[in-house]
Amino acid sequence: MDARTITAKERMAIPRQEMPAQDPQVRIGNFNEVNLGLTPEQAQQEALRCIQCKDPVCIAGCPVSIKIDQFIKLIAEGDFMGAVRKIKEDNVLPSICGRVCPQEDQCEKVCVIGKKHKPVAIGNLERFVGDYERMSGQKIDPVIPAPTGKKVAVVGSGPAGLSCANDLAQYGHKVVVFEALHELGGVLMYGIPEFRLPKEIVREELEGLRRMGIEFRTDVVVGRTITVDELMEEEGFDAVFIGVGAGLPWFMGIPGENLVGVLAANEFLTRVNLMKAYDFPKSSDTPVFDCKGKNVAVFGGGNTAMDAVRTAKRLGAEHAYIVYRRSEKEMPAREEEIHNALQEGVEFLLLTIPLEFIGDEKAWLTGVKCQKMELGEPDDSGRRRPVAVPGSEYVLPIDMAIISIGNGSNPLIRQTTPDIEVSKKETIVVDVNTMQTSKENVYAGGDIVTGGATVILAMGAGRTAAAAINEKLAGTAKNFNEW
Ligand code: FAD
Repeated sequence: MDARTITAKERMAIPRQEMPAQDPQVRIGNFNEVNLGLTPEQAQQEALRCIQCKDPVCIAGCPVSIKIDQFIKLIAEGDFMGAVRKIKEDNVLPSICGRVCPQEDQCEKVCVIGKKHKPVAIGNLERFVGDYERMSGQKIDPVIPAPTGKKVAVVGSGPAGLSCANDLAQYGHKVVVFEALHELGGVLMYGIPEFRLPKEIVREELEGLRRMGIEFRTDVVVGRTITVDELMEEEGFDAVFIGVGAGLPWFMGIPGENLVGVLAANEFLTRVNLMKAYDFPKSSDTPVFDCKGKNVAVFGGGNTAMDAVRTAKRLGAEHAYIVYRRSEKEMPAREEEIHNALQEGVEFLLLTIPLEFIGDEKAWLTGVKCQKMELGEPDDSGRRRPVAVPGSEYVLPIDMAIISIGNGSNPLIRQTTPDIEVSKKETIVVDVNTMQTSKENVYAGGDIVTGGATVILAMGAGRTAAAAINEKLAGTAKNFNEW
């Protein structure tokens, strides 16, 4: 079908194109990506389903306002590189966002087609476009503007820092990104597993940023190696953006949490993803708890919990449980991840809370005492509050417990920069229109401001901050009119 001649009836008759995926029984034996990506033919068919609304509400549903209608139109016309260029005007990481964004709650949720049919698969098309640039080998050369003479430090190389750095470089500022770890990418690299987001893709998208002239310095812990004040006073940075995420795991505070075999999802995932513990001792020096034939329980219901439990399954767990205190409906994880976990044989113990971890005489974990719950009235979050069912306690035998109930912020920046105001929850307080903190010329965004949220919200915050920093620096630049 041709984009120029297709009739409305023909358009509506096209079914939503299914994403090809690895068979669940095969994929639990490997760490390769689950979803395989749309073919060019499928992408064009899917793009033809978009009716090109006069008022594209999908754009308002996207935190970085990607020109969704326009890039989809270009795919429908077969101009894939044109689509790459269009999407990159607003989103520097399309291959990543196409894989991990919760489109079902954002752009696709408001898609007009979705009222009567399945919504246009905007996320899958975004992924297709990002992958097309990479796989076709046709790299878009960045337009590097004349230097403004201004220098900005970006602390943290997660999605917030990367999108901020990209926009600042596009404005012509010299940008240096400081990252505490030896690898760039933040949660994209150390949290989200290979089977959902191959690390090669993150590295490739980072390459695009390097081509913009952005400088990256790894193994620099701001607050230890150098402070925010030193960056400005001694290193001469005109502004600083803080995008250090929320990487400090919360524990449940129940007895037995210090038994051997109880660990945080962040540690488990970092060992497996970043340090490649799944290949220990062949190509990796980092071991991880041996899950083979064991019972592993993950406590929580978010994306991190799904990633951890599916990782445990791939490491050979006999039983991989999700223990969650509410019902499946209240789970914060993406629908697709819940579906994939169920397909892979993960067992969901819903409306269940852990009361106590139980260990043997050598302090090794052997089980968890649980209690059944039922749903009561909605709480502040609007979700129905779980209420304990008296007399429903039981012991679940487990060898490993992974805690995945959320993260707080690392105290380092606030301890070493006391003039940055923080909230009671210890997140950095900003003006949401500019992401400016209480400290002059210091901005912040992403999880360090919102608490654990999403990749695209972090990217949106990075972009807002970059625009505000640019405006601020423009006001003080000698050669502003020449920018
Ligand atoms: P981060 O990605 O956390 O990056 C912060 C970076 O700052 C890190 O690299 C860190 O090492 C560095 N840093 C920290 N302190 C310092 C310091 N003092 N000096 C220098 N560098 C420092 N979101 C989705 O949208 N979809 C998903 O499917 C999804 N899945 C997830 C799965 C997991 C396992 C996790 C943990 C999160 C997931 N999220 C998902 C949430 C999403 O990844 C985060 O909201 C997002 O990464 C936040 O971006 P950020 O840039 O604020 O922080």
